[in-house]
Amino acid sequence: MAGAFPLLLVLLFTFVESRQLVKRDLEATATLALNQAESVADHAWSMLKALQPLQGKSCDDISDELQRLNARFAYFRAIGLTNGKTIYCSSLSAYASRNISDIIMMPLPAKLPPAWSLSIDQIKDVEVSPTLIFIRTPSNGWGTFGLIDAQYLVDFMNAVSKLRGFQLSITLGDGDTIQASHTTAAHTNEGWLSVAEYHTSSELFPIAVTVTAPATEMGKAWQLAFLTFLPLALGLSALFMFATYYWRKRKLSFRDELRRGIANNEFSVYYQPVYGVDAQCCTGAEALLRWRRSDGHWIRPDVFIAAAEAENMIIPLTQHLLRLVENDVTSWSVPPDFHLGLNVSAEHLQDSGFISDIRRFAAKVAAHRFLITLELTERSLISEGEEVARRLQQLRQEGIHIAIDDFGTGHCSLSYLQSFPLDYLKIDQGFVRTISPQGEETPILDAIISLAHRLKLQIVAEGVETEQQLRYLTQHNVGYIQGFLYARPMDNENFTVWKHYHGKRPLDTHRHVAREEEDDDE
Ligand code: C2E
Ligand code: CA
Ligand code: CA
Repeated sequence: MAGAFPLLLVLLFTFVESRQLVKRDLEATATLALNQAESVADHAWSMLKALQPLQGKSCDDISDELQRLNARFAYFRAIGLTNGKTIYCSSLSAYASRNISDIIMMPLPAKLPPAWSLSIDQIKDVEVSPTLIFIRTPSNGWGTFGLIDAQYLVDFMNAVSKLRGFQLSITLGDGDTIQASHTTAAHTNEGWLSVAEYHTSSELFPIAVTVTAPATEMGKAWQLAFLTFLPLALGLSALFMFATYYWRKRKLSFRDELRRGIANNEFSVYYQPVYGVDAQCCTGAEALLRWRRSDGHWIRPDVFIAAAEAENMIIPLTQHLLRLVENDVTSWSVPPDFHLGLNVSAEHLQDSGFISDIRRFAAKVAAHRFLITLELTERSLISEGEEVARRLQQLRQEGIHIAIDDFGTGHCSLSYLQSFPLDYLKIDQGFVRTISPQGEETPILDAIISLAHRLKLQIVAEGVETEQQLRYLTQHNVGYIQGFLYARPMDNENFTVWKHYHGKRPLDTHRHVAREEEDDDE
């Protein structure tokens, strides 16, 4: 695909370009033909002007002058003088005393305009080439005329037709269309390739020119343009192919790295305590995954979680997390109903194995009688809502709790709050941060809190970092506090120790004691 893309692009580009090219060629050819025809007309009218002083004179007196003038331009078939619509004197004696319409074998307009010209396919006595006739009839009845052999133009058209396959036609006045003598069959479209046509007309004389190029001409131009750009297209193809290959390899290798990370036990779980305001002690903890590469380099959870989600690796990774937690908690001693928060991604929720994964985990840690809380984001509830609601309902009947994580950041409608079985709402740190020491208003936070109360959901405030935030939240009946103020996420060992010393203390006292310890240190 990556290789074909630049080729297709160049194919398209050269197609458009070749159409333009053929159009420009047609334009140039038409302009050239028009110039030729204009020059012929210009000569003709000059000749007629030169004949003007001879008007009305006796034919015998002027016949020498006529011959002399006629010889001046090779392509005059005949020149002469008219009286009304009759030729009364002509350089070609055969035309003398004959009606003009008789010679051109078509009727003249009822009233001849002062200057009149016409292209004629066939005139009397001349069977080979078309003719152009020019007539000047001033109002006094006397006039001048010139008949021009159009072979000169036909030769030009023949040359163009032979060289490029273009079909040229020239029309003078309302006359016949003059074309190359050996015209090929009319041009027709050939599939994608269409006949190109161009019209132009003179601003000085009533001359119209049409040029058409056969479809094959466009094909040829296209081929030529494509061959010109082919090296570039091939270069781009190679570059694209290399870039895609590299990208895919990186993608693959990241997936491999995640797999390797799991196999090499590079992942571990940190636990962040959650403070229960009513119970005045640590009532639970959230399990947070950590990845420390074998080279000692830590990878941020939001980075590898997002990557695992993008690479379809989040399910195996969560299954791994569940195994790690199962191991960790074997050494825990916690009261019944200690909350254990687990983050679950949208993809896992939609997976058919989701329920069995959670059930298996619940069975493994059953001895601790945890209150397992699944932390879901708003986004994960929206897609395939009904099936997800059914699964959550089922797990809930088995004693598992459901929390909405990062509430208010999912950019989605709140309607799901009514259709899903929920227990907790976790207020995102972003809203907690709006509580400022200056005591400014926090309308959104207040709305979220009152919404949760009205929906009878328990509230966990995330990212609580200051005493002010704690005070504000407890004053507003927020039941659970999570954040650096209370405790940071800790590895299993540190968490066990922390829980032993601090887990049962109220938050104020805990802060107090912590401060006392700091004072002691000083
Ligand atoms: P989260 O679920 O919102 O987790 C809370 C995050 O806030 C954690 O970041 C935690 O360290 C951090 N945090 C807690 N208290 C404070 C505080 O007072 N101040 C500040 N600034 N931050 C605080 P962490 O561990 O980096 O996790 C980031 C995110 O990665 C998590 O956000 C969660 O969405 C995801 N994540 C982590 N572990 C897992 C997992 O096992 N499964 C899934 N699906 N996602 C996970
Ligand atoms: Ca969470
Ligand atoms: Ca959160």
